[in-house]
Amino acid sequence: MDTTILLMVFGVAACLVAGVVLFRRRRSKEDDSFYHFRCPKCQRRLRYLARQVGHKGKCSNCSGEVVFPPISQSID
Ligand SMILES: [Zn+2]
Repeated sequence: MDTTILLMVFGVAACLVAGVVLFRRRRSKEDDSFYHFRCPKCQRRLRYLARQVGHKGKCSNCSGEVVFPPISQSID
């Protein structure tokens, strides 16, 4: 087989892999921004994601129902 074609195939494959990795990294970075707030029931510091704001969830400590507050009301 011609080495030039082989190199081209490898080059295209490498570009595809790099593209997928970069794309996934950018997405996971967006999804992995964690914020914190306190459970109104047990005062436990809970972690949530920006995309969970306004959604209902369960406290991992007391299993109470919580609503993830806006980012402006999050704590450090
Ligand atoms: Zn709780």
